[in-house]
Amino acid sequence: MAETETRSIFVTGLKNAHAMENQALSIMKPQVKRIENYPEVARKLEQHIRETEGQITRLEEVLDSLSEDRSMLKDVALSFTGSMAAMGHSIAGDEILKNSFANFAFENYEIAAYKSLITIADLGGFPGHVAALKANLDEEMAMAKWLDENLRSVTVKFASLKEAGETAKV
Ligand code: MG
Ligand code: FE
Repeated sequence: MAETETRSIFVTGLKNAHAMENQALSIMKPQVKRIENYPEVARKLEQHIRETEGQITRLEEVLDSLSEDRSMLKDVALSFTGSMAAMGHSIAGDEILKNSFANFAFENYEIAAYKSLITIADLGGFPGHVAALKANLDEEMAMAKWLDENLRSVTVKFASLKEAGETAKV
């Protein structure tokens, strides 16, 4: 692979990751505001929002060090995740469940994106940037693991609140 091609694949991947992280914020922030009955989910989302802001900073530092102009970042919303998120905004009463599914899907999308980007960095002569990308990957994996491990308790709580008549509360 030509040096310039690899660099362009890497830079495009970094810009896409930057857009992905802003999309992540736009999915998580409205969720946190609406949660009333699931404080442990709200706390975790708040933590991951702070992590995501750090991830964006790491990506910007990598782009800066490659002398890429960040004013050109388009941050086009990802249609896949956009529709997943919109699904969660319904007033069906099971918003907490749909958001749990969408968040799990999104974290796994991020995991795949960073694994691919780390491969490009490894193969393409950017070993100095692997650590920053690995730090982002580790946070996504931890979040995906938490969502996986908490799906049962969130579902159990949803069912018991439903029994108690707390229908539409998130
Ligand atoms: Mg992220
Ligand atoms: Fe994430």
